[in-house]
Amino acid sequence: MTTTQQDVALFEQNQDFLSRDMHHLFIDGTRVPAASGKTLSTVNPSTGEVLARLAAGDQSDVDRAVRAARRAFEGGWSSWTPYERQGLLTRIAQILDDRFEELIQIEAMDMGAPVSRLRSSRPALMKKLSFFASQAANVSGETLLNGIPGNVTTMTLRAPVGVIGGIIPWNGPLNGQFWIVGAVLASGCTTVLKPSEDASLSVLRVAEILHEEAGVPAGVVNVVTGLGKEAGHALAAHPDVDRIAFTGSTETGRRIIEASTVNIKKLQLELGGKSADIVCADADLDKAVPGAAMGAFANSGQTCYAGTRVLVQRSVVDEFTKRVLAFIDTLRVGQSLDAAVNLGPVISRPQLDKVLSYIDVGRDEGAKLLRGGRRLGNELGNGYFVEPSVFGGVTNQMQIAREEIFGPVLSILPFDDVGEAIAIANDSDYGLGGAVWSQNLSTALRVVHGVHTGTMWVNCYGLIDPLVGFSGTKLSGYGAKGSAAHMDNYLYTKSVYIQL
Ligand code: NAD
Repeated sequence: MTTTQQDVALFEQNQDFLSRDMHHLFIDGTRVPAASGKTLSTVNPSTGEVLARLAAGDQSDVDRAVRAARRAFEGGWSSWTPYERQGLLTRIAQILDDRFEELIQIEAMDMGAPVSRLRSSRPALMKKLSFFASQAANVSGETLLNGIPGNVTTMTLRAPVGVIGGIIPWNGPLNGQFWIVGAVLASGCTTVLKPSEDASLSVLRVAEILHEEAGVPAGVVNVVTGLGKEAGHALAAHPDVDRIAFTGSTETGRRIIEASTVNIKKLQLELGGKSADIVCADADLDKAVPGAAMGAFANSGQTCYAGTRVLVQRSVVDEFTKRVLAFIDTLRVGQSLDAAVNLGPVISRPQLDKVLSYIDVGRDEGAKLLRGGRRLGNELGNGYFVEPSVFGGVTNQMQIAREEIFGPVLSILPFDDVGEAIAIANDSDYGLGGAVWSQNLSTALRVVHGVHTGTMWVNCYGLIDPLVGFSGTKLSGYGAKGSAAHMDNYLYTKSVYIQL
């Protein structure tokens, strides 16, 4: 393992946090145990060892957190000016930038992403915070004409909706939580966050830092850890939670929709995907091969918009396949704290079993396993490591081409002409990401217009900027992340009639 002296120092510094006997809930600016006293363990997926014990919050803890969030929303926080909220976000960016290395160590141990990947996500986090700082001072209504007799002035105001329930997945909570926290602080809302039971630590640590160092008032950001079906369900069904921002699987999204009917909550749902990455015969393979491979394998395949269906024009499929297999040989799989590693483990034992069972399914349905397919052993044998795996000869009817695997499995599907590629791409329940690799602008634009999906990349994969944003369609959900539309989920419009 390649470990620097700085890594060791940070590791020791983090021991204060990680060596706590128990990670309590964070409610109203303080750490509190779960009312039931129940706990759950979180495991380091690189080693299979228990990393920490978490409070297992339930309905009564969610009630307590929602009450704190409501008090904060109605209290002094409501009179913060846009400049003050903007200043707070700028201060948070500075503090997190200073503490970034410490935080990524926690994240790496908790959810298994390699430090190399996490380190390269620093600009994304900083951009996100700067985006939300700019949004804090950009909330505006309109003055509108009207046909009412007499002297009546009419306008719309934009107001914060109140308490936001934020339900977060495990595949990148350090960065991902700021889609919610950033918007909450920019809009003047408050929140109760429910991180994944598999990766809660960076969310808990950030909540402490926000309150203890950055000056976020008590009750503005609360964290209730626990199981999805208990704490998560209680939050989605809570009558005093105004909106839910959810990122996670489509299946859980459905449950959240059902639970939210209690008070007709508006929802922001960012769900699963099965994105098509289309490589045309005229693509620059020097770029398309690493681009498409990392589009599928980044974060060990655990990204929502992973391009796991790689559609390759038949005349270049052999060359593309040969080069992808050679590219895989350059990838180093290993423990997340090893700075030289490109791909870490998958998050948990159940996820490992799920990925391996999909590989069996792929073989059984006649796809050709060209590389990988096994759990890694030896010094990685206690962790949840899967070899980067490639299937050739996949058809779009196969289960491995239709269902989200969420592991390092890439399927190659040959196509003859671009119209066929578009039809295959659209033959999916999902519509989250997608890409086209072509040196011909007309071809690229034909695909961009033809594929029904929330985000398309041309000659690149996975670029995201909060100013531009991304969103899903079909079973991948709704509600933009990033762009000015993001703030619509945190604000409502009030029409005002003033008789003068
Ligand atoms: P998941 O749906 O299992 O869990 C997500 C969160 O929901 C967790 O905090 C979990 O505890 C909670 N939850 C589970 N059951 C619940 C319930 N009944 N009520 C309320 N909350 C509940 O997802 P995951 O396995 O943590 O993450 C992987 C999934 O997330 C994949 O499908 C991936 O595509 C998706 N994802 C989507 C995006 C996006 O932006 N579209 C980003 C990241 C991940």
